[in-house]
Amino acid sequence: MSERRETKLIHSAGIDPLTGAVNVPIYLSSTFHQESIDSFGPFDYSRSGNPTRKSLEETIAKLEGGARGLAFSSGMAAISSAFMLLKAGDHVLVSEDVYGGTYRFITEVLEKFKVDYTFVDMTDLGEVAAAFQPNTKVVYIETPSNPVMKITDIEMAAKLAKANDAMTFVDNTFMTPLYQNPLELGADIVLHSATKFLSGHSDITAGLAVTKDAGLGEQLAFIQNTFGSVLGAQDSYTLIQGIKTLGARTKQSGETTARIAEYLHRHPLVEEVYYPGFSFHPGNPIHKRQASHAGCVLSFRLADKDAARILVDALEIPVFAVSLGAVESILSYPATMSHAAMPPAEREKRGITDGVLRFSAGLEHPDDLINDFSQALEKIAIAKGLSVAD
Ligand SMILES: *Cc1c(COP(=O)(O)O)cnc(C)c1O
Repeated sequence: MSERRETKLIHSAGIDPLTGAVNVPIYLSSTFHQESIDSFGPFDYSRSGNPTRKSLEETIAKLEGGARGLAFSSGMAAISSAFMLLKAGDHVLVSEDVYGGTYRFITEVLEKFKVDYTFVDMTDLGEVAAAFQPNTKVVYIETPSNPVMKITDIEMAAKLAKANDAMTFVDNTFMTPLYQNPLELGADIVLHSATKFLSGHSDITAGLAVTKDAGLGEQLAFIQNTFGSVLGAQDSYTLIQGIKTLGARTKQSGETTARIAEYLHRHPLVEEVYYPGFSFHPGNPIHKRQASHAGCVLSFRLADKDAARILVDALEIPVFAVSLGAVESILSYPATMSHAAMPPAEREKRGITDGVLRFSAGLEHPDDLINDFSQALEKIAIAKGLSVAD
């Protein structure tokens, strides 16, 4: 029987064979007793492998449809470890509106290790094709991109990569394995900040990587063990529990996001709403083909920083914070938060202007969130001496 992913989310970690416990045990042990000098058990030291972490790693591999899953101490640890598959003299092609921390790792750390990079508009496959160099080893994609929700055609980009003997890495944080499966579209490694939707409760930082084939999985497991940024047993357990409710959470948050997107789109003080679920979003046809959900995050642009400041001060329900994908709605200001590591000129070039705010819908009642936006936008109108009837 081929189960849907919603079912796999619940049962992937399985039942403890020793006791029948429905939850995976938390193995708080850094080391493991061995039988004799020449007979070792499956675990020896928790950096190299821990049973709780292993259960999580098998779960994410199943959900993404890959050969090997690996759990790291943060999304950036997973992403950085994947880039450590490269060596000096290699070159990478990267989405220009990549996550701020990834941008920082590439420009400030990879740079020191003599790995060269080119940022490209991944939505423009002509530009991508023209940017390959003989030493290009990786095409790095984020779709939908953060925060302006540009959509990259994963299958086409991965084909271009393959034709140029390069691998494709996809940061799948925004869609989660439930709604988008890059490995099935030709990617070699899929990466997650599990700090976001997968854990879902703003209580841990965690990262996951899944490789399509076992050989690449071995190489990345070697880096995981060597570099050592592994996820602890307690956090592995928390993440397994978070993954179980992913389907229910994203279903409700997704419906709320669609309603708020529609509301903001109609509001006269909102200049633009970035939401891949809109039929008129330029990336919508591609997104619909490769993903089965419009997501739970949207961004929108107000006139300027003043308007953004008034809205942030006036909104009562969402927390104002970095991060996304949690039970509480989270409002962020990318210019000084997620993209603070990006020089202002680079930021503006990517459309992350001073009026842009990002909203991640939580599990509050959608009517309360819309009422909250309504009263907060009204305050901008009052401050600017405008009248807004809505
Ligand atoms: C948060 C985030 C990351 C980084 O993950 P951490 O868990 O914060 O290290 C990477 N990519 C995307 C798209 C993110 O949202």
